[in-house]
Amino acid sequence: MKTYRLLIDGRWCDPASDEWFESIEPYSGKAWARIPRGAAEDADRAVEAADRAFRNPEWARLTGTARGALLRRLADLIEANVDLLGAVEQRDNGKPMAEVSGQVRTVAQWFHYYAGLADKIEGSVVPINKPDVFNYVKYEPLGVVVAITPWNSPLALTTWKMAPALAAGNTLVIKPSEYTSASLLELGRLALEAGFPAGVVNVVTGYGPEIGEPLVADQRVAKIAFTGGEAGGRAVNLAAAADFKAVTLELGGKSPNIVFDDADLEQAVKGAISGIFGASGQTCMAGSRLLLHDSIHDAFLERLIAAVREARIGDPALMETQIGPIATRAQYDKILRMIEMAKAEGATCVLGGHSLEGPGYGQGQFVAPTIFTDVRNDMRIAQEEVFGPVLCVLRFKDEADAIRIANDVRYGLAAGIWTQNLRRAFDSVDRLEAGTVWVNNYRATSFTTPFGGYKHSGIGREGGTEAIREYLQAKSVWISTRPNRANPFVLG
Ligand code: NAD
Repeated sequence: MKTYRLLIDGRWCDPASDEWFESIEPYSGKAWARIPRGAAEDADRAVEAADRAFRNPEWARLTGTARGALLRRLADLIEANVDLLGAVEQRDNGKPMAEVSGQVRTVAQWFHYYAGLADKIEGSVVPINKPDVFNYVKYEPLGVVVAITPWNSPLALTTWKMAPALAAGNTLVIKPSEYTSASLLELGRLALEAGFPAGVVNVVTGYGPEIGEPLVADQRVAKIAFTGGEAGGRAVNLAAAADFKAVTLELGGKSPNIVFDDADLEQAVKGAISGIFGASGQTCMAGSRLLLHDSIHDAFLERLIAAVREARIGDPALMETQIGPIATRAQYDKILRMIEMAKAEGATCVLGGHSLEGPGYGQGQFVAPTIFTDVRNDMRIAQEEVFGPVLCVLRFKDEADAIRIANDVRYGLAAGIWTQNLRRAFDSVDRLEAGTVWVNNYRATSFTTPFGGYKHSGIGREGGTEAIREYLQAKSVWISTRPNRANPFVLG
């Protein structure tokens, strides 16, 4: 079994408690790695190192071009280590290899993209409305950024924070999910190898209340970039408000995937599947509410069920596997509880609705792809995030009805529309309350465009040129070009 250590100030070290916990492989149920159980003392050491590194000329005086070169070197190392990173991440969270290996390659692209942006953080000269003054605005990094991430896509979701934060000149303390720490400790190793100065990238592991909370409370931290559940996000936001830290929150979703009667149904069936059964539904952007027009409801369902029955479910390490196990025992129990809740609420289970056990299903942490019909939008199963392979199907009468149902939820992360009518597509895009809208596709992401939530799905955006602004602050500079003759007792 591999034993990992904390990365603080450019060195590998043991946690102050001298305690470790085990990381469990979801498919086999076996412990495969020992992860340091960090706590307040480790959080303090990591923030101290990041704070010192932020002021150290070795990092602070690097040009954007030089920061870009470091990020590019890290991207190259990630590309050279795709198989290792993918294997480690896949062992930790049980996501099918076909998806994990693609995701790790994208991680390298994110670093390349922000490497390119590092020396394009341009300020502006302001045509100020005062005589004899030259005013310009420059953008400066915030300081120490704490990145707290969940277990479903640890490398990708951390990179969404790490790449723009470093490109902007901040320093970082990364706190992975207690379930999936190993891939981020490996990423920390590559950052060291790439040549980032000591303390610029720190990785500390442990449980939310034990090490996450002290990190969020630390007054030397300038910003918290958090991805996780609504409850964790609220706790982090409230704690960060105590000393006015900046936050980015990427939280949950209950995203509508709307199929109009004029849609290309074959494509829409594929989109419905990738929306909810890709990654076994363990994704924030899951299209967990499928809205079907009355006239196509029955025919669409028939095709959808037939296609899902063909899914290859099993060992996530095999490239051909399409649906893997649930990443954690707690999440598996939660999904099964929510399936029972939906049945008790009166929804009709037309597919799955149970766990899968026996040969090919490892230690049994599998949930069958599940579809509920006769769902009303005010049922808890239609309003609460399951984070598993559970689809709610709702009917609608017309466009206005579809948009009303789609928006009638406290989340606003994403939405899908399937139609061949351009006017309908544009109108729906305008009226949907979501940070991402996919038209005739679902679940695409890219480093070139912003991603984030409306309403309870979060604050701020990750990706694209917009994300780098989340890690910068503006400084307005006033330079007198002539002696000032105005009355000094009156505001200039
Ligand atoms: P979680 O909120 O339980 O944990 C996320 C991280 O926060 C973990 O590292 C955890 O240790 C830490 N944490 C928890 N409470 C904390 C606290 N009080 N202070 C500091 N740190 C704390 O989430 P999870 O179960 O790991 O992940 C699943 C959730 O993440 C889902 O709700 C999902 O929708 C969301 N998610 C959102 C996005 C997005 O981009 N919007 C992406 C993936 C996952």
